[in-house]
Order: sequence, then C-alpha cells, then structure tokens
Amino acid sequence: MNARAQQPDFAVIGGGLCGRLVAWRLAGAGHRVALYERGDAAGTRAAAWVAAAMLAPLAEAASAELLITRLGEASLAAWPRLLAELPEPVFFQRNGTLVVWHHSDRNEAPLFERRVRANAPAELVDGGFVKLSGAQVGEAEPALAGRFTQGWLLPHEGQLDNRQVLTALAAGLAERGVETHWNTSVDDHALPAARVTIDCRGLGAKPAWPTLRGIRGEVARVHAPGIALTRPVRLLHPRYPLYIAPKENDLYVIGATEIEGEDMSPVTVRSALELLSAAFSVHPGFGEARILELNSQCRPTLPDHRPALLWDGAHTLRVNGLYRHGYMIVPEVAEEAVRFAGALLDGRVADTDAFEDWRRDARWTGLFHLDTRQALA
Ligand SMILES: Cc1cc2nc3c(=O)[nH]c(=O)nc-3n(C[C@H](O)[C@H](O)[C@H](O)COP(=O)(O)OP(=O)(O)OC[C@H]3O[C@@H](n4cnc5c(N)ncnc54)[C@H](O)[C@@H]3O)c2cc1C
Repeated sequence: MNARAQQPDFAVIGGGLCGRLVAWRLAGAGHRVALYERGDAAGTRAAAWVAAAMLAPLAEAASAELLITRLGEASLAAWPRLLAELPEPVFFQRNGTLVVWHHSDRNEAPLFERRVRANAPAELVDGGFVKLSGAQVGEAEPALAGRFTQGWLLPHEGQLDNRQVLTALAAGLAERGVETHWNTSVDDHALPAARVTIDCRGLGAKPAWPTLRGIRGEVARVHAPGIALTRPVRLLHPRYPLYIAPKENDLYVIGATEIEGEDMSPVTVRSALELLSAAFSVHPGFGEARILELNSQCRPTLPDHRPALLWDGAHTLRVNGLYRHGYMIVPEVAEEAVRFAGALLDGRVADTDAFEDWRRDARWTGLFHLDTRQALA
C-alpha cells in the first residue's frame, strides 16, 4: 500500500468539545479519521470539562451578537437529533432559563431586558421572554417561592450535562472506528500525516493563531439535595452575575467568573466566596451543599468574540473562538466545519475563488475566513 493510501482522510487535533464532534460526524460520513488529544478520553483538559453547558441563546443575547443568537437557536433544535445518535445517554432538557435579581440590584433588570430586546430577533423574544411578578416566580420555580418578587422566564432555553456529552462522544468515536490518540499532544512542527488537518485545539491553538486569547472562568460543583431547582437560574448583579445550573442527582454547577487572561491556576478564594455566597443568596439551602469541585479553565476567544472557521488555503482548517458559547453553538459550527472539510478532501475547494464561492453560499457565511498569511495566490 502506498503512503497516501495509509493516511487517514482527516487528522483532528484537539479532542475537547468541537474536535470530538467534528471527528465523530466525519466518521459517520464514512471517512477515515484520526483524533489526537493531549488529555484523557474523559476530556479533563478541555474547557468543555468545566463548562455549565447551558444552551441559552436568548439570555446570552444580553451580551452576544445576532450571529451567536442565531447559531444558538439552530443548534438548540439540532441537539436532540444529535444526542439520539450517540451510543450513551446524555441529560438534556429544554425547560427554560429563569432570570432573577435581588431588590438592591433592580436597576440591572431593565438593562438586561433592553440588551436582549435590542440584540435578539423579535420572533425569539415574542413568547420567549416572559415577565413574572409576585407569586408567578414561585409558580414557575417552586424552590424560589417567596424569595424573589420579579423575574424573567425564558421558557424555550435548554441545557445538558457537559461531561456526559464528552463521554458519549468518546464512545461514539470508538463505535465509528475513529483512531483515537488520547494523551497525545501535537504541535505545529510535527503534524500527523493526513490528507486534511482540522485544528480544534481551543486555546492550545494559540501558537498557530496568535490573536486567540483566554478568558478565565471559575465554577463550583456542589451536591445540594432538597433544593430541587428545575432549570438554570441566572442572578443579575452589577459585579457578580451568576448562574446556578442544576444537573441530574442534585448536582449544581455554579458559575462563572469572567476574567481576562490565560491563568489556569486553581480558583481564588475571592472567586469561591463570590460564587458560593451568591448561590446562598438565591437559596439558603446551598449553605448545606457539599462542595465537590472548584474548577477553572479558559474560554478560547477571538478578538470579535465570534467563532471562526479559518482555512489556510491548503489542507488545514482551524475551528476556534467558541468563547462562552461552545455547547450552545457547536452543532451548527461543527456541521459547517464537516461540510467544508469534505469539500477540501474531494477538491471542490482548492483555491481562493472556490473558497469565496463556498463562503457566499454557506448557511453561516460569517463563520468563514481565509488565513491571508498563508493563502494561495
Ligand atoms: C467556566 C466555563 C463555563 C462555560 N459555560 C458554558 C455554557 O454554559 N454554555 C456554553 O455553551 N459554553 C460554555 N462554556 C464554553 C465552552 O466550554 C467552550 O466554548 C468550548 O469548550 C470550546 O470548545 P473547543 O473544543 O474549541 O475547546 P476545548 O473544549 O477547550 O477543547 C480543546 C481541546 O484541545 C486539546 N488540546 C489543546 N492543545 C493541544 C495539543 N497541542 N495537542 C492535542 N490536543 C490539544 C485540549 O486538551 C482540549 O481537550 C464555558 C466555558 C468555561 C471555561
């Protein structure tokens, strides 16, 4: 057999959230795929390991632009189909987001509402952004009855269990015959042989993509039986906006700080105090919760805070910049990456003209970029 025939069609570098999904989809389309991940099969080195995995395009519209909201909405619809194909179950719900605030922070509420209404398309806001007053807060979320006099219910939003997604994708990779290389770091000077390389290293791609930066996020995971929140709750606050995302078995992810910088060191005392006291202020039952973990990671972020698919003009596609929206948007981003990677493999995109045509006709045109440092003339 010649060397070309022995090569996989695709080498996917970085097996966090995006790399796993891309590799699994490519293998599902019948391609030979190899995946290289510096960490373990559980995904403990990925930002995806720490994330709360809320799928909240409308709540996020308070600070995200329309492309992200639209990607989030389309991806929210795609998740159930995608999860149904995985060989292991994943906790997923579409039971909405509740937004509340303490009386002393009531000035935050109109700001939040204005931003959401300004940034999100009207068809999402209509019926998707419901004002609650008085007893309605407790009717919507019985655990918070009598604790908040006002709130917003965003009934269509979702969430899932991040670690179950990573595990189920690892099982899916095995099932589809992906050649997985766990605990294998790859750097740009020694890329594995493949016809097309897909770089999904998150912040680890910084040597190849210098404008990437990290935004540190810290979370607590606690076990709190008896509180019984039924959906993610966001607490508006001028300095410490917080969410509490309930998972199965009385597990809660409380997060998250948002700090510029690539500091991956453990959670600071200050952040732990802020997160835990804010949770306690939402429900005093968190005072008896058991702290399972305090974790930090960095969100891979581009200067415009948008995700991007960057083609080098030859055989490498980079997928990055998922920032704080990875779970929320990855089905659509990965789908675009898979389609484009297929076109690189079979030669439908081989020069900049073909790339421009592809970009123009793509569903998510705004994702595509040409690496002008390396592009073909
Ligand atoms: C605190 C926190 C909370 C979050 N909450 C949410 C949320 O509620 N909802 C949401 O949608 N998103 C959330 N996110 C964002 C989400 O986690 C990220 O957007 C997503 O994980 C990015 O996916 P990725 O695959 O690009 O990067 P990652 O998940 O970081 O994966 C990159 C992978 O590449 C590997 N790698 C790096 N360098 C190399 C190398 N040289 N060789 C081989 N492998 C390498 C890493 O080990 C890692 O596994 C949160 C993130 C954080 C930090």
